[in-house]
Amino acid sequence: MEHIQIKDLAFQIHISEPKIRQRIASLAAQMNVELATTSPIFIAVLNGSFIFAADLLRQLDFACEIQFVKVASYHGMQSSGQVQELIGLNIPIEGREVIILEDIIDSGLTMDYLVKELAKAKPSQIKICSLLLKPKALKVPLEVHFTGFEVGNEFLVGYGLDYDGFGRNLPHIYQAVEPTKE
Ligand code: 5GP
Ligand code: MG
Repeated sequence: MEHIQIKDLAFQIHISEPKIRQRIASLAAQMNVELATTSPIFIAVLNGSFIFAADLLRQLDFACEIQFVKVASYHGMQSSGQVQELIGLNIPIEGREVIILEDIIDSGLTMDYLVKELAKAKPSQIKICSLLLKPKALKVPLEVHFTGFEVGNEFLVGYGLDYDGFGRNLPHIYQAVEPTKE
C-alpha cells in the first residue's frame, strides 16, 4: 500500500475518494427525502467540514441556507481547563430546523458544546450530520442523525481533516500508519 508523508507521520488510504463520493450521494439522497419541506439551515463547523459541506450541499435539491461557524477552544483562567467559544453564528435560527455539519466526532465534547450553545438560540430542531464518527471514543451520549462512516480510533487526515494544518487538500481520507516495531 502506497504511503504518503505529512511532517513526521506516514499515512495510508483508509477511505478512498470514490467511496466518499458514493456515501455522500446517499446521504444527500436521504436528506432530499427527509428535509425537503423544512427549509433548514446547515451550520458547518470550520475548518474541517469545508469540503464535506461543499460536496454535500451541491447535491441537495431543496431550499436551504448554510452558515459557517468555528468553535474556538482555549485554556481559560478557571481550573476547569478548556474554555470553548462559538464564533460566527450571526443569523437568527429561532424556529428553524438546524443541521450541524461536522467532519468528525471523536469524544463528542465539541458537538455536545455546539448543540447546547445552538439550543440557546431556540431552533425548532437540531440534527447532527458528521462525515466521520468514532463510536468507541465517545465520552458523551450523542444522537447523530446522519453519519457518513463509523471509524475506529485511528487518526485520520484528508478531505478537509488536517494534521497540524496540513493534509486538508488530500482527496482521500488517510489513516496514520503505526510505526512498525523492530
Ligand atoms: P471531539 O470534541 O469530538 O473530541 O473532537 C472533535 C474535533 O477533534 C474534530 O472536529 C477534529 O477537529 C478533531 N479530531 C478528532 N479526531 C480526529 C482525527 O482523527 N483527525 C483529525 N484530523 N482531527 C480529529
Ligand atoms: Mg472539526
